[in-house]
Order: sequence, then structure tokens, then C-alpha cells
Amino acid sequence: MRNKVWVVIVICILAVGGIIGISGLTSDAVSSKADDTSPDNEKVKNVIVLIGDGMGPSYTTAYRYMKDNPSTQQMEETVFDQYLTGMAKTYSNDKDENVTDSAAAATAMAAGIKTYNGAISVDKNEQPVETVLEAAKKNGKSTGLVSTSQITHATPGAFGAHNESRDNYDEIADDYYDEMIDGKHKIDVMLGGGVDNFDRDDRNLINEFKNDGYHYVTTAEDMNNNKNARLLGLFAQVGMKKAIDREPSTPSLAEMTNAALKQLNKNEDGFFLMVEGSQIDWGGHDNDAVSVMSEMDDFAKAFQAAIAYAKEHGDTQVIMTADHSTGGLSIGRDGDYNFDTEAIKAAKRTPEYMAEQIIDGASVEYILNKYVTFDLTDTELTDVKKAAATEDVDTLHQAISDVFNERAGIGFTTGGHTGVDVPVYAYGPHSERFSGLIENTDIANEVFTFVR
Ligand code: MG
Ligand code: ZN
Repeated sequence: MRNKVWVVIVICILAVGGIIGISGLTSDAVSSKADDTSPDNEKVKNVIVLIGDGMGPSYTTAYRYMKDNPSTQQMEETVFDQYLTGMAKTYSNDKDENVTDSAAAATAMAAGIKTYNGAISVDKNEQPVETVLEAAKKNGKSTGLVSTSQITHATPGAFGAHNESRDNYDEIADDYYDEMIDGKHKIDVMLGGGVDNFDRDDRNLINEFKNDGYHYVTTAEDMNNNKNARLLGLFAQVGMKKAIDREPSTPSLAEMTNAALKQLNKNEDGFFLMVEGSQIDWGGHDNDAVSVMSEMDDFAKAFQAAIAYAKEHGDTQVIMTADHSTGGLSIGRDGDYNFDTEAIKAAKRTPEYMAEQIIDGASVEYILNKYVTFDLTDTELTDVKKAAATEDVDTLHQAISDVFNERAGIGFTTGGHTGVDVPVYAYGPHSERFSGLIENTDIANEVFTFVR
């Protein structure tokens, strides 16, 4: 009798449990908890964070105009658009400046804290704060930094180093070598510019890395042929050339991204990779729309490379955003309601490149004929010649930039940054965590949950 009662009770428990289980599954599939909405609850093994430095919302919109097919009424989507998930607030924690610089913003995205402008993953008291790259390394993952600036610049620096000032490029390079995690160098793949910060009078970090098993490359070909899991590639003394000025021996950002992924992919425990389109920002500081679009295009192809990898490897989370906007770039200027993208596309080199050639002795007419597909008006030519007569490369660079900006209808309001929110894009198992209006620090805090 007693046994029968127990059997009935057990059957009842099983039946009720089954019903709860089924309804539980159903309700999970329909509504879900905020921190775990992935239908298959997939674990993230690899993380790729891409940062378009200075790439505020007017930049991604301008890029859409640039890529539009004029023979259709609709303005087609860019390679970014379908992955848009939200917007990020960028303000820093700085008593004098509430518009962020790249160091404070990168620290927010790398270490999850708001700090002062110029800080490289240190807090307000100049104390180091662990970064997502370091947490990934500590957890047995491989790590990489890729940029078109010197690899010691603020954005990559905040992922791989700690310093009270972004200006201490050499000390940031020292950190990459000296700060070990479990007896190993913390960054497995470093690709970008910055020979000057590695090969110095006081220290040769290139040789130090080579002695510790890193393969060192300086050309696209050697980088693409690399088979070593630890790779240092430096392709310029300081920053790399803008994409449209680069020689074929110098890699694109997409090539560097793929070269990094090829090695990082070897680690069964996964990897963390940060890829930066560093010089979108530099084009913005220079108020040079041609350079901006050159660097946006380079960055877009790197983004596509990251997405392609993630589509092949479902345990990969891609997050892409900007650290801030730069220059106050506007689509439309001086009361005109038009952005003529053909004026930007008419430049075959950047205004900076043209200015340097003229300062080096080439004639204004020869250079403009060679690298610009439209004929300048007499007024435009006079303005450029006047600037050339100053023999100041920056003045001439600006004068040539102005020809393109004015024809195109692209405006700028500042040589510095602006405090607007920036778009956030994501692809992968937990993209929903990057949706809505977020803080830039949320990016690090979510990435920590993937890499720890
Ligand atoms: Mg940067
Ligand atoms: Zn900047």
C-alpha cells in the first residue's frame, strides 16, 4: 500500500515536472531573460572588437551616400547597416573635458571604467585596471591588436598597456613586452605602424620579441606567408599611409585582420582580437573628407573580414563601434542640400599626399592633373597656389581638402572631437547584449563575460 502511494506520488511529480518542463521551454523560447536571450544559449569562444576611431553617425551615413548605386531610387545599405544594434554614450570622466578623447574611450571599452582624457587603462588615480585582452590571456586565450596607427597609439594601447598618459608611446611598447601574464607576453599578434617605438636608442623591442619566438614582418607578403602563432608586423615608422596612398607592399586593414585571425584561430581555447580603423579620426581632425572616406573603406573591408570569420565560426562574437566622432562632419554645408559623392571619388590620392608631393617640388598643376579627375576652377587653382606659396604642408593640405569638401558639400565645425553618441553594431550569439542606448563601458563589461 505504502509503495503504491509512493509510485503515484512519483508519477505525479514526473507528470507535473514534464508539464513545467515543456511550458518552461516554450516560455524560454518566447520571452527570455535580459542577460541570456540567445535561443541556443551558445557559448562565445572568440571575440572580435572593431573600433572605427572617430567614426560618428554622420560618418557611417556619409559612407552610405558614397556607396549608393545612383541608378536606383533607393539608397542601398552599407556592409555595416544590417548589423546595427544600438548607440553608445561616449562621455569621459574628466573634470575639464566632457567630450572624450580616444584614450578615455578606449579605456572604457577595454577596461569598463570611465576615466580622464589621455588615460591608458588607468583609473582617475592613475591605477592600472585590468583589460579584456588581459582577462582573455589569463584565461588561456590568444590575443591580438591590429591598427593602422602606430600599434602603441591610444586605442590599441588601452587594450594592451597601462599608462597615465597616451603620449608615452615608448612606455606603452615596453608594457607590451614587459607585462607578462602567467609567464607569457600578453599579446600574441601585433600588426600596425610604429617602428619608432620599438627600435630605439635605449632598447630594441623588435629584437627582444624575436628572441622570444615572435616572427617579425614588414611587408604584406611576409605577413601573409607567416606561419608563426606569435607575430609582430610593423609597416611604418609612425602611422601607416592612408589606404588610397598605400603601396601594394603595405597591407590593408582587412589583410592584417585576416593574418591575425589565421594565427589566433589555432588556439582551441579561443581568442580576443581588437581591430582599429585608426585614421578615420585623423581624416576628421584634418577636416579632410577624402581621407575620411579612404579610411572608412579600409575599415569596412576589415569589418567584412571579421563578419566572414564569425559566419564560419559560430562561437565568435563581433562587436563594432566608434570611440567618438571627430571634426563635426556634416552631410550638407553652407545651406546647400546636396552631397556630391563624385567630388570625393575624383581624388586618386589624399590631399595630404598631394600636398607633400608639391612641397617636395612637384608643380601644383602636375599633381592636381595627375591625381584629380575633375578640372579645378580658376578660383580653386588660385587658392591652392596661394597655399603652396606658404611652403607649409598643413596649409596646403587644408587648401586641397577644401576643394573636395566644398564641391562635395561636406562640412566640418572643429579640428577636435564631438560628443555625439556613436552607432554600435554586433554579429554573433549574444548580439542582443549590445542593443539600445548603452554606455561605452558596457562593451568591456559584456566582453569580460565572454573571455573570463
Ligand atoms: Mg585610435
Ligand atoms: Zn582624435
